[in-house]
Amino acid sequence: MTDTNANRNETPKARLAAIQGRIARAAREAGRKPGDVVLIAVSKTFGEEAIRPLLDAGQRVFGENRVQEAAGKWPALRDRYGNVELHLIGPLQTNKLDEALGLFDVFHTLDRPKLAEALVKAREKGRTLPRLFVQVNTGDEPQKAGLAPKDVDGFLMRCRDEWLLDVTGLMCIPPLGEEPALHFALLDKIARRNGLSGLSMGMSGDFETAVMLGATHVRVGSALFGTRP
Ligand SMILES: *Cc1c(COP(=O)(O)O)cnc(C)c1O
Repeated sequence: MTDTNANRNETPKARLAAIQGRIARAAREAGRKPGDVVLIAVSKTFGEEAIRPLLDAGQRVFGENRVQEAAGKWPALRDRYGNVELHLIGPLQTNKLDEALGLFDVFHTLDRPKLAEALVKAREKGRTLPRLFVQVNTGDEPQKAGLAPKDVDGFLMRCRDEWLLDVTGLMCIPPLGEEPALHFALLDKIARRNGLSGLSMGMSGDFETAVMLGATHVRVGSALFGTRP
């Protein structure tokens, strides 16, 4: 196995180029175009001083898992760099929705009717909605967020017909210690049968496998930023 943690001796720019190179190679091996895969740099727990070098190197797509943390660091970075696209990859409570709408361009964690209904209310008040991924708990883990695989088709139907929410794709976090490819393949299967093209899957340890299996968005943290504190 390759070490998934970023090598301390490499510059952030070199780490970024290395990850992009690995994504491109995996895409080509699977007969896909490297440009069809978006690299989300997951900057959770890291401060501005760690994020700025990646922005300087040209990275503009970032992921955060907490609304409060993102609110503390991203408005200033955004003002300074512009064109930043921010993805929410952690669970969202409806009482944080307003703030999240002001910060994030994409939500990866739509996972329940209550949140869908809160999005509809926000839209009625004139808010612009982000692009939406529905999170699927592919391993049916009780402690993990996301819809059970058996509930996804029905939920997507309600998104379309009842809430008029435009869903871009599906997202999953495979269970620790299980073969991620099985979960990526399952996510792809559910997306296909529902006519969805977006697949948010793959992290530092398995993003190449995810790309081979159709990921359109990979969420890479520690391989870019180093081990989280
Ligand atoms: C933290 C996190 C990642 C990044 O994980 P790494 O293993 O550090 O790449 C990806 N997706 C989600 C949902 C996360 O919370």
